Amino acid sequence: MVDPIAGADSGATSATAGGPPGGGAAPTGAWRTATVAGLRRPIARSVELRLDVHDRIDHLPGQHYVVRLTAEDGYTAQRSYSVASAPGDPLVELFVERLDDGEVSTYLADVVEPGDELEVRGPIGGWFVWDGATPALLVGGGSGVVPLVAMVRHARAIGRLDLLRVAVSARTLDALPYAEELAEAGALVVLTREAHGIRPAARLTSMDLLPLWEPGQTAFVCGSAGFAEAASQLLVGLGMPPASVRVERFGPSALEQPKR
Ligand SMILES: Cc1cc2nc3c(=O)[nH]c(=O)nc-3n(C[C@H](O)[C@H](O)[C@H](O)COP(=O)(O)OP(=O)(O)OC[C@H]3O[C@@H](n4cnc5c(N)ncnc54)[C@H](O)[C@@H]3O)c2cc1C
Repeated sequence: MVDPIAGADSGATSATAGGPPGGGAAPTGAWRTATVAGLRRPIARSVELRLDVHDRIDHLPGQHYVVRLTAEDGYTAQRSYSVASAPGDPLVELFVERLDDGEVSTYLADVVEPGDELEVRGPIGGWFVWDGATPALLVGGGSGVVPLVAMVRHARAIGRLDLLRVAVSARTLDALPYAEELAEAGALVVLTREAHGIRPAARLTSMDLLPLWEPGQTAFVCGSAGFAEAASQLLVGLGMPPASVRVERFGPSALEQPKR
């Protein structure tokens, strides 16, 4: 598994120690069997899996699961996937972007069917976790919006959407996971390859984030390494303390080696 590492330039943090902003400890689960209860392909090159995790331990918004695939010859490969569902959802929802040469994402997107069983471990992660009680600024790029969707869904469920400010970015609207739901929750949508409303195609800027920033917020930044670093730098440049910027990166999984 790729463990997120601290952003070198911005000073923003993505340590695995620590806990939710408001204190307390995040729950951790062991290996479990999950039945694929539902499967959708809401946008191209992706799959949304709704999992019935047996003996499930409830997660906090922002946590992830590891999915382990095992071939007949014993070869295994495992990857991390953030939970998109709110803790109150009876199923665990994962959203997987299909990478053309990806070992695990292609299997999950192309082969898995409803009724299949998967080996999963979770919830995992004690740092990139929103407590549901303190103000937060969520900034996501591409499939990096997935853990932020869990936060939005939880906030909506407990009637505290007022605590969240959200900015999300993708190349096009069609490529943005949960685009409609995020827009309904008031997210600023930034597209880099096409205009959106009156906004021309452009990357996220500090002027985008300035109206969303408020003292006392914890920022949760998630996306590719490049996006996470750029967004963290923007936030720190606006005056957000680096220790208040929590980062999760969905980078190449070089360290997530398959084992025999
Ligand atoms: C905490 C955490 C949560 C994550 N949550 C999600 C999630 O919710 N949804 C999701 O789709 N992914 C998520 N990821 C990424 C996921 O774990 C895998 O890395 C991804 O699915 C690729 O795995 P693969 O086996 O298909 O590709 P691999 O076989 O590992 O890699 C195939 C090729 O793609 C490159 N690559 C690998 N990962 C990425 C990437 N993320 N972006 C671009 N290129 C890549 C590799 O360098 C390689 O060239 C998360 C990662 C972490 C660490």
